[in-house]
Amino acid sequence: MNVVRTKDEVRAAVRTARDGGSTIGVVPTMGALHEGHLALIGAARERTGFVVVTVFVNPTQFAEGEDLDAYPRTLERDAELARASGADLLWSPPPEEVYPAGFSSFVEVADLTEVLCGDPARRGPEHFRGVTTVVAKLFNVVSPDIAFFGQKDAQQAVVIQRMAADLDFPVEISVQPTVRDADGLALSSRNAYLAPEERVPAVSLNRALDRARALIESGQSDPDEVLAVARAELAEGVELEYLEARDAEDLSAVESFNGRPVLVAIAARVGKTRLIDNTIVQPTPVPVAARRN
Ligand code: AMP
Repeated sequence: MNVVRTKDEVRAAVRTARDGGSTIGVVPTMGALHEGHLALIGAARERTGFVVVTVFVNPTQFAEGEDLDAYPRTLERDAELARASGADLLWSPPPEEVYPAGFSSFVEVADLTEVLCGDPARRGPEHFRGVTTVVAKLFNVVSPDIAFFGQKDAQQAVVIQRMAADLDFPVEISVQPTVRDADGLALSSRNAYLAPEERVPAVSLNRALDRARALIESGQSDPDEVLAVARAELAEGVELEYLEARDAEDLSAVESFNGRPVLVAIAARVGKTRLIDNTIVQPTPVPVAARRN
């Protein structure tokens, strides 16, 4: 596995692989690789012949005051892990390779980026504008057949699927299940910020999602009731940003669980660490005779 910095090196390696008959997979990451990332690399390894992992802490998706400078950067270790998981190329560009002087074009997906984390009172749509811009750029450099993303960032996956469809990127977006620690905490590079005593509150996010899932699957159709019970699972020390149920495909508000898949998503602060998690639930269809209208 080669580690490269420039777009030209990536294009040359991809061209050689394609000329040799390989399909191309890409796994975009911000590094500090963990088992969640490695599962994406494994999925890419299974489905494509040449696997490109990108490691780039993308400044345009961080707002002022967020953790851009503190974000863990562990390139040597990342390269070892990526190699051991079967990656063929690791692209770690310096910021000026992605955003040269004078850079002024952005890719924006409307509507889907204005809810959940994109609500202007939260991270805001600018976060997703940074994500879609950098992902569009790396699609143009790598020209993958399949790009692999994690369900952990559910809204990001929906937004990228929308972008790829709207802008005719000839790429399949494959979304892989969330990888968790044994106690249920979703793996995240940001978990490194958690103090040992913050683990208990952090784990309660997944408990709340499990509770919501169980209620929806048992036929409870009122989102307010489900979310109130789920919220009660959150431990002391969790500062809730949101816990919402939305349509899993278009992120529209859900007034009643009516058979369409539901995304239950949570964002919260535990100490200084912002955590997100989610689950997708298939509600039990309500028998026709039991419907009120
Ligand atoms: P990040 O490095 O956090 O930007 O994540 C890079 C990719 O890995 C994204 O597609 C994430 O959704 C995915 N990812 C992060 N954490 C997990 C996890 N625990 N399980 C599965 N995928 C994950």
